[in-house]
Amino acid sequence: MHFTLKRLWCIFFLCICVSKLPAQIQANDQNMVIILIDGYRWQELFHGAEWNLLNNPKFNSMDSLKRIHDFWSDDINNRREKLMPFTWKYIAKKGQLYGNRDLGNNVNVQNPYWFSYPGRAEALSGFVDTAINSNNYKDNENMNVLEFLNQQNNYHGKVAGIVCWVPAGKNLNKDKTTMMVNIPWEDVHGTQLTQEQILANELQHIAPRILGDGERLDFEVYALAKSYINANHPKVIYIDFGDTDEYAHEGAYDKYLEDIHHLDAMIEKLWLLIQADPFYKDKTSFIIFPDHGRGVGDAWTDHGSDVMHSNETWLATWGPAIKPLGEMKTKEQIFQTQYAATIAQLLGFKYNSLLHKVGKVLPQVAE
Ligand SMILES: [Zn+2]
Repeated sequence: MHFTLKRLWCIFFLCICVSKLPAQIQANDQNMVIILIDGYRWQELFHGAEWNLLNNPKFNSMDSLKRIHDFWSDDINNRREKLMPFTWKYIAKKGQLYGNRDLGNNVNVQNPYWFSYPGRAEALSGFVDTAINSNNYKDNENMNVLEFLNQQNNYHGKVAGIVCWVPAGKNLNKDKTTMMVNIPWEDVHGTQLTQEQILANELQHIAPRILGDGERLDFEVYALAKSYINANHPKVIYIDFGDTDEYAHEGAYDKYLEDIHHLDAMIEKLWLLIQADPFYKDKTSFIIFPDHGRGVGDAWTDHGSDVMHSNETWLATWGPAIKPLGEMKTKEQIFQTQYAATIAQLLGFKYNSLLHKVGKVLPQVAE
């Protein structure tokens, strides 16, 4: 009796201690997959393919019957699900999708430039540094949420970035950071690479360099990231995709749609991999966003502060602690400066900056 009582007291005491532990101790077994999709518009995410663009011969080279078969339906729900089946069948039920402006749910970039390097810098740093005003900007020495996480107990050496584009590596201060950052044409290194990793390394050297010297294709990034997750079990991985932006600048609407359809499938496969691995299962969140939007009508190909609407973006997220609210219907304004603090909070950390004002945690995602 006495022994049982003592045990009960012990359990009671332990419960009090656990409830008073700082958030990071309770949550730091959590993992995160952060995905960036360069210049993918909210219009296609929420509406599916756009009829006028899909039928304009100037913007398409694929056979018209095929592209209408692949991407068109008169019903908007079918149409968007045809384009991004995983997003609409899974994320829209189990997670949260922000940015449908038809419903007044607005997501915007806050930087004044509306292009790629400033967009990435803002999203990962959690603030706008107006000095970052060019895609040729030098190494970004500002703090970012990946660097911050890499400095935390249990996360040090377990944060990685695999990116499609050389400046995306500069944004992570690749030359000075201690986290693993892999940029175009660099092999993933290791003493015991798996066969899958060796193949991913090889692929990037034999794949056609159709995007120029500074950028590799999404399937190469996918192969490198997936094999790295399997072999190294990073707790936080940032995967940076970019074909969407390239095809859009080319004015190739059918290729742009085909790429997002493939990215949706890659994201599904990453999620299935995560949920099949006890290291990650039920303790890993995903957060997905672009770096900027694009124009409308014929200006869909372009973006930048002179292209109206190209500051309009979106956000998708799901994970064990994220409420399944689906497509967000509340009227609100979100900025991509809010992602860094939200990512940190989901892992149990408070992300802040002494020098800059960091965007607030998104309350529906992480509070
Ligand atoms: Zn971009």
